[in-house]
Amino acid sequence: MAETTVRIDGWPVAVGTALAFATLKKAFDTAFPGITLHVYSGYRSYDDQAKIFLDRYVPQTVGTGPYGDVRWWNGIRYVRTSGEGTVAQPGTSNHGNGRALDIRDSGSGAGVTTAGNARSNWIRANAARYGFDPAGYGFGEPWHIELAAHLDPWAGGSDNIPASSDADTIPEEDDMGTIDNEHQVKQLKQAADSAKQAVETANTVKNAVGRIETEELPKIRKIAEAALDAANKTKVAAGHASKANKRIEAKLDKLLTAEGVDVASLNALFDSGE
Ligand SMILES: [Zn+2]
Repeated sequence: MAETTVRIDGWPVAVGTALAFATLKKAFDTAFPGITLHVYSGYRSYDDQAKIFLDRYVPQTVGTGPYGDVRWWNGIRYVRTSGEGTVAQPGTSNHGNGRALDIRDSGSGAGVTTAGNARSNWIRANAARYGFDPAGYGFGEPWHIELAAHLDPWAGGSDNIPASSDADTIPEEDDMGTIDNEHQVKQLKQAADSAKQAVETANTVKNAVGRIETEELPKIRKIAEAALDAANKTKVAAGHASKANKRIEAKLDKLLTAEGVDVASLNALFDSGE
């Protein structure tokens, strides 16, 4: 069976696993109104897994490293030097066969990523009803779930694959080959809307700074930082588009103008980043 993946929250996920996740997400989102369940890592090729492993582990013949985490891979002894968490040796991870998902949720606090709260308890208790094994509880990674053994991670028709749930996901460079794609144009339009909002927010903040007394400054600074952050995110998104395709960049300018954004002010805003 072809190893087809779809993107959920920007992450590649095996089609069969994606279909099961859609049912799990629907139930979770219903159980916790206002909070949504998301993918934070899905299918990883052997090369992907090797890259992550080698980012966090270094060959070392003696000692256990700062985290006491020693692993053998291809006959070489490694110790972990990164505090970002454990990584399975390439070829041994269920991320490599399409079954494993790492999840997070949009609520405050750690939610499904740590054991013993309402949301993670719900996942642990209900995952099996939607085709998942909360396997990560067995090795200290509550955020890690796996498609049940009797289900096929690569099964599923392209007709009933859930679409990416993140409306504000900007396509990666590889995905941006042509401009004749309604989806991409829609995403660029969303980027344009964000840019417009960022300019408006920044202008509001500027006016406020003129009016309000000095003791209000720390509060305003916070708002300004948020606006700048939003503007920077938009800038990063626009950067992806321009690198991928000059024609898309031209289209973005047109869209910005069509949306009533003053392109010159926007550029000035980007250039003034701290
Ligand atoms: Zn995982």
